[in-house]
Amino acid sequence: HMTSIAFIGLGNMGGPMAANLTKAGHRVMGFDLSEVSRDHAKADGVAIAASAPAAVAEADVVITMLPAGKHVISVWSEILPSVKAGALVIDCSTIDVDSARQAHAMAAEKGLMSLDAPVSGGVGGAKGATLTFMAGGSSEAFAKAEPILAQMGKRVVHCGEAGAGQAAKICNNMILGVSMIGVAEAFVLAEKLGLSHQALYDVASTSSGQCWSLTTYCPVPGPVPTSPANNDYKPGFAAALMLKDLKLSQDAARSAGAATPMGAEAEKLYGLFNDAGHEGVDFSGIINFLRERAPA
Ligand code: NAD
Repeated sequence: HMTSIAFIGLGNMGGPMAANLTKAGHRVMGFDLSEVSRDHAKADGVAIAASAPAAVAEADVVITMLPAGKHVISVWSEILPSVKAGALVIDCSTIDVDSARQAHAMAAEKGLMSLDAPVSGGVGGAKGATLTFMAGGSSEAFAKAEPILAQMGKRVVHCGEAGAGQAAKICNNMILGVSMIGVAEAFVLAEKLGLSHQALYDVASTSSGQCWSLTTYCPVPGPVPTSPANNDYKPGFAAALMLKDLKLSQDAARSAGAATPMGAEAEKLYGLFNDAGHEGVDFSGIINFLRERAPA
């Protein structure tokens, strides 16, 4: 049934997500600081409000999709006084766990339900409504959010209490960053040993080295024809976003007191890769950077 939804942050992800909610028949009132983002969303049927507080005034569900924790805290501080009693506030941005928990506490102080619900699936998933949502918050908030999130994605997982969605997202992406470097190193070593890419792939993809970085995002062209390596390492998942998520997992590890030495090394290597001017390259392109490095 039709719900009145406010959507703040209409960028590469938020724009198409808000558009999918209008297509599903909801009344969507949007806002973004950027005129370009506002115009794109308007063309997709999203009504545009004059400010973020104006956008949320009538909404039963409020969604934010912003760059980082400081933007979420700032926008939530601005909008929470205008959100209706009984409404639900959902943040879908990828942010640090501490800010996510702070946002939940701010909502609770106003007596509002809240959810952290970051996504995976990228811009393609946002456009095609095939995102995966990982949510943290009360069962009551999750039950209210689930049917709405399901209209922007294909999977909605309740991970636990406040912050659990962000925790799941950064733990998953830490595995991804570490495993991509591991797979890339194996191909670089294979090259030096005279072992062909295809032979390593045929063995590892059916052995204990099997993982997503190998069998879906294979960092050399050939074995997996749809991987970005076959398309000049165009993203896909840009190295800048991989670095952002690795910084978040290291921040969380420091804050929570967890030992993540491989995560720390992955953050360092993706930092060097970004600094060398490859922020816009797919993260699997780190293989080319490793190939050029002097042996350890
Ligand atoms: P983006 O930069 O394209 O969009 C962010 C939007 O927020 C911009 O349009 C910006 O103008 C707006 N904004 C910033 N501050 C604002 C404010 N105070 N009020 C109103 N609007 C404001 O970023 P994106 O690619 O859409 O990513 C959004 C979030 O989703 C990030 O946290 C990102 O890490 C996460 N994410 C992105 C991808 C991806 O592939 N792009 C995938 C998964 C998760």
